[in-house]
Amino acid sequence: MTSDLTRLTIAQALESLRKKEFSAVELVTRHVRKMEQLRPLNAFITETAEQAVAAAAESDARIAKGEMRTLEAIPIAMKDLFCTKDIKTTAGSHILGNFIPPYESTVSQKLMDSGTISIGKANLDEFAMGGSNTTSYYGPVENPWRSEKFPDKKLVPGGSSGGSAAAVAAGVAMAATGTDTGGSTRQPASFCGIVGVKPTYGRCSRWGIVAFASSLDQAGVFAKNVEDSALMLEAMSGHDVKDTTSAPQAVPNFAALLKHDLRGVRVGIPKEYRVDGMPQDIIDVWEKGASLLKDAGAEIVEISLPHTKYAVPTYYIIAPAEASSNLARYDGVRYGLRKEGKDLAETYELTRAEGFGAEVKRRIMIGTYCLSAGYYDAYYTKALKIRRLIANDFTEAFKKCDVILTPTAPSSAFAIGENSDDPIKMYLGDVFTIPASLAGLPGMSIPATLDDQGLPLGLQIISRAWDEVGMFRAAYALEQALNFTAKPALAKVAA
Ligand code: GLN
Repeated sequence: MTSDLTRLTIAQALESLRKKEFSAVELVTRHVRKMEQLRPLNAFITETAEQAVAAAAESDARIAKGEMRTLEAIPIAMKDLFCTKDIKTTAGSHILGNFIPPYESTVSQKLMDSGTISIGKANLDEFAMGGSNTTSYYGPVENPWRSEKFPDKKLVPGGSSGGSAAAVAAGVAMAATGTDTGGSTRQPASFCGIVGVKPTYGRCSRWGIVAFASSLDQAGVFAKNVEDSALMLEAMSGHDVKDTTSAPQAVPNFAALLKHDLRGVRVGIPKEYRVDGMPQDIIDVWEKGASLLKDAGAEIVEISLPHTKYAVPTYYIIAPAEASSNLARYDGVRYGLRKEGKDLAETYELTRAEGFGAEVKRRIMIGTYCLSAGYYDAYYTKALKIRRLIANDFTEAFKKCDVILTPTAPSSAFAIGENSDDPIKMYLGDVFTIPASLAGLPGMSIPATLDDQGLPLGLQIISRAWDEVGMFRAAYALEQALNFTAKPALAKVAA
């Protein structure tokens, strides 16, 4: 066993805790120390070191009594979009800068009940709107990886869950929560060389997660490997009466079902995902992934998802439309920031003008426009119809295959500041993750290789709704075959 506890996987740490090779306090303290050492990454908006160490002492008491829970004492980062009781929850926005929720989100509560310990609230794009974690009011997050070609440039960790991904990649947290509306767990996982999972829409409760686009938002997981991500997802999943869109579906024991023969499994390769200008490294790793799955016994089939090219524009109507409605609640009266005006209307205007950043304002305006009388049918209703066609494409494809293999993102991590003045370019970065989001399907990214700059690239596995088991099995087999072991230099700094 390594003496650097921040390099362990969850499964290894649980085993060692059980054998009393180290204490929960020791495990948590090492991660807290690393969080403090790596503050320049700006991965956290709020650190909760004191509460974490106190919780670890309780974990030690439980372990001593033989009452260890499934994820006892595992230090995690909590995306600052999950409301946490008595702990500031900002959603990366100035408008919620002083918001202390009086309640706990269902997912964070479930994680606590499983024994995990949150060491802090992770930075994110404002209201989870973004793909680079550069729209946060609390500043950009730095990816722990650096390009070999431009070693002085700080890179984005992806977004919106950039703080969560950077924390796991750097070994600050053993796992983290994310949310995924159009790719916010999968794309940062790809940029940071870790595993990121978005389950089926309805698998996890959205109760207590600050809403962005309610018909798309799902809780997600970051972890160092597939097994750990399965352990985390199981703890987070399940029906919740407080969220009518959470589904009364049984939660399988994902981690126990991972290791399974791929013989007979059909892996679909969607031909429309070969987009123009895709870097050769990405084409190569995609082909390598397919051939490794074939070697593992799977059958590779070409499939067609003909409406793929409409997915990004459709998403950028539906998500802003829902966001404009969800964010109407920030009016300076009930939550957070308030800028007093001469009357109520001016108070709204001043509060919202100061409280929201540029990207959030852009989306509120796009959304309000698409929902306004005269444009509703031309944009919003049309987008809903295309969303249905995109979902139907997947239904057809899953007659021919059991899982789908694609690249996760069309590039590796880029420099902080790059693309910031070009929202369309930024939006196109979601081209491979958005279709599954619109269809409500589970998807996950696993790290596959390093590109010609020495930066990680992920591969995405998408499965049928509720078939996370099938997704995890394919991902696990691929992970074994890829044997990706690279780590950023910062992850090797002992805490
Ligand atoms: N990058 C996408 C967006 O900006 C997805 C964000 C997300 O999944 N939260 O909307």
